Amino acid sequence: MAAPITVMVVGAAGKMGREVVKAVAGAPDLELVAAVDQGRTGEDAGEVAGLGKIEIPLRDDLEEALAAVRPQVMVDFTRPEGLLARIAAALRHGVRPVVGTTGLSQSEIDQVASLAAEKRLGCLIAPNFAIGALVLMRCAGLAARYFAQAEIIELHHAGKVDAPSGTALKTADVIAAARRKASATPMATPGAESERVAGVRGGECAGVRVHSVRLPGLVAHQEVLFGNAGEVFTLRHDSLSRESFMPGVLLAIRAVTGLSGLVYGLDKLIFGEEP
Ligand code: NAD
Repeated sequence: MAAPITVMVVGAAGKMGREVVKAVAGAPDLELVAAVDQGRTGEDAGEVAGLGKIEIPLRDDLEEALAAVRPQVMVDFTRPEGLLARIAAALRHGVRPVVGTTGLSQSEIDQVASLAAEKRLGCLIAPNFAIGALVLMRCAGLAARYFAQAEIIELHHAGKVDAPSGTALKTADVIAAARRKASATPMATPGAESERVAGVRGGECAGVRVHSVRLPGLVAHQEVLFGNAGEVFTLRHDSLSRESFMPGVLLAIRAVTGLSGLVYGLDKLIFGEEP
């Protein structure tokens, strides 16, 4: 059997990071070699994740961990602040980033693309690792060719720091691009001019209205409603637990070692480029 792929998890004490620690530790072809978080330093990453002791202490210094351990892959589920610097540090150390943290701007994504190309290293940034959510986005691209109006409702747990979600932004882009490719008119977004309460018609992303709901009890959910005269077509995906993201994260870790340069969106690895 080939040697396991060595993996470091950053944000390992967080909600997503703990799931990734469990998923990587349970995969026979992967080896968890380091765990970083700005909190809970020194605690065992396995105990923090609810796995029991695995003799991997949480470190708080990313640069030091990268230099000391040199994993093949770094998985990041942290916060957008300082994310570009963390990705750049990984690439400088010859480590391939798999990034689930959302909130990078387009110019930051472009900088990651240049750096990964320069270093000839694989890098994957995925606003959503849930396979069902990716299928939803592909279906949204298909539906957008045939429906002249659409609105996106994204619903997340109350602790989510960015709005709208990266997935909603990406879905809006997919819809707008599908309309352009089909030489159809852009989606119509009526109603904002008649708002009696500011913002009640949502925000506009790539010409599509997006509504962000934040409530305790939710995990990650998205609905896309398409309308034509006399018909409505609804797509909905629900991530009911963070386990739903793990098959996608493991797929990304395995795939990134064979990539050169940045891939944005796990859908490209699963389905190929947009039709
Ligand atoms: P969380 O707050 O539970 O965990 C974040 C963890 O990162 C915390 O333990 C925190 O201490 C740590 N952290 C923050 N800044 C750090 C830094 N500079 N260095 C080291 N550790 C740092 O959040 P979460 O729910 O796990 O979400 C994390 C990120 O993942 C968010 O951006 C969220 O939007 C994103 N997310 C992405 C997907 C996806 O499929 N791509 C799915 C769910 C969540």
